[in-house]
Amino acid sequence: MSRYAGAICRICRREGEKLFLKGDRCYTEKCSVERRKYPPGQHGQSRGKLSDYGIQLREKQKVRKSYGLVERQFRRYFHEAERRKGITGEVLLQLLELRLDNVVYRMGFAANRRDARQLINHQHFLVNGRPVSVPSYLVKAGDIVEVKESSRDIPGIADNLSKVEHRGLPGWVEIDSANFKGKVLHIPSRDEIHVPVQEQLIVELYSK
Ligand code: SF4
Repeated sequence: MSRYAGAICRICRREGEKLFLKGDRCYTEKCSVERRKYPPGQHGQSRGKLSDYGIQLREKQKVRKSYGLVERQFRRYFHEAERRKGITGEVLLQLLELRLDNVVYRMGFAANRRDARQLINHQHFLVNGRPVSVPSYLVKAGDIVEVKESSRDIPGIADNLSKVEHRGLPGWVEIDSANFKGKVLHIPSRDEIHVPVQEQLIVELYSK
């Protein structure tokens, strides 16, 4: 499955918003969106108005790229959201937030979801005491996510944890930094999911 391998900041510039895909740099004035508030490319500054379809497509791409998914994976989450009870757009965001790579990132063990995915692939995490090496694993309310004892001295994890307050810990998780542990308190409500998106537009796009 091929993933985007280009410059990460171009993704944010393309969407015209900070998607916080890197880590520390995103919180500084070095952020590319802060410095160049127009889409990348030769015609970036002269692009016209988007059609309704274009607006819906950009909203979908923004979310898909924020969570680092390819189209096929993203569509699968959408169909799953449609199947479940509740407002489809909201359920879609909840499913994405509950992915283990996102939870590891939100708890502050990694600077971004890409790094979180790599740490999980390398088997550095336990969920409820059992090793899990699948980034798409969906956590549940009450689950305990922790760094394996033998992995706690990996450079970067402790450093990232020390910055979590600055980045902002969402209300649906709590962490115990001293023990490299976090708990999922409840399924996040829409207002606890800080992704700048109008999810209804994604529903409209896929419902055509
Ligand atoms: Fe996006 Fe972060 Fe790059 Fe800014 S620094 S453009 S928020 S990835």
